[in-house]
Amino acid sequence: MSKPTISVTLTTNPKPRPDEKKLVFGKYYSDHMFIMDYDAGQGWHDPRVVPYQNISLDPAAKVFHYGQTIFEGLKAYRTNDNRIVLFRPDQNWDRLNRSNDRLSIPAVDPEVAMEALRTLIKVDHEWVPSEPGTSLYIRPFVIATEPQLGVAPSTKYMFMILLCPVGAYYAEGLNPVPIHVESEYVRAVKGGVGNAKTGGNYAASLKAQEGASELGYSQVLWLDGVHRKYIEEVGSMNVFFKVNGTVITPALNGSILDGITRKSVLQLLRSWDVPVEERQISIDELVEAHRNGTLEEAFGTGTAAVISPVGALHYNNEKLVINNNKTGDLSSRVYDTITGIQSAVLPDPFGWVLEV
Ligand SMILES: *Cc1c(COP(=O)(O)O)cnc(C)c1O
Repeated sequence: MSKPTISVTLTTNPKPRPDEKKLVFGKYYSDHMFIMDYDAGQGWHDPRVVPYQNISLDPAAKVFHYGQTIFEGLKAYRTNDNRIVLFRPDQNWDRLNRSNDRLSIPAVDPEVAMEALRTLIKVDHEWVPSEPGTSLYIRPFVIATEPQLGVAPSTKYMFMILLCPVGAYYAEGLNPVPIHVESEYVRAVKGGVGNAKTGGNYAASLKAQEGASELGYSQVLWLDGVHRKYIEEVGSMNVFFKVNGTVITPALNGSILDGITRKSVLQLLRSWDVPVEERQISIDELVEAHRNGTLEEAFGTGTAAVISPVGALHYNNEKLVINNNKTGDLSSRVYDTITGIQSAVLPDPFGWVLEV
């Protein structure tokens, strides 16, 4: 399809920009946002960049009652030579539409989404921070807006994109986090919505997250919903284990999220000739590897933190400390390489980086 015409209405009241040294995740939003509406029979229409503002919805809008909503998350970086680059945005539009499909939401044309994002970032380019480790977090999302309490797919939607400058995830370098292995609650089951990026998965995760916090653990490691035995993912990250030199991550099985950082880490490791396996891995296998000294490293992967080393696993009242609660060499190398490629400090051999 031809490039859409995106209208732009500039704010007359720009906000003061936050101190780049004191950015907090998800707290500050840029001056503008993108909105596009969908109506059955008309399709997606009126793509526009407007001043950041409240939206008004009928209280019967379906999103409030039945959770018909999906989202994405990606980042833009300012390079040393003052360009703005995105990391694999095509992958986000692809996944957005897979989530849309699962939630019976009409697809968004990836070219329209990409042009919307470019236009919005150009308008708010001053909001892309330049301090080391900072970036612009991008939140595309879709909500069902039809005011109708019947359980059926909505006939009206809004697609929006918000921008927020975010700080370095690790103020003092990579820090391992302790993780609680959850054996009461489950996150998702095969056939459910675990592989869609949808709000309900997060709402369902809060209870376990609270319990883990009370025990002093910062995240939950989810086990599969049927056997409570196989590793799924960590909080909002995919998870990797280095066991006896081989890196193992759970295979995409329909209930875990197909992370773009996960995919990139796998590609990178394979390019380094590090043995990798995508397969089912049980908690018992990890406990055994810990016992015999072959559980060498563990880390989570996701857009927000990129790499989050796991310092300990808490399972069945036992605490398995990994690599003396230190960041492993491979975790560091993966982190440095991916963040280096993302900010265009390192060459981009895989063609992952796209200039805005
Ligand atoms: C977004 C997300 C991830 C990580 O995906 P990335 O594309 O790497 O950011 C992992 N798990 C869940 C549940 C997620 O929502």
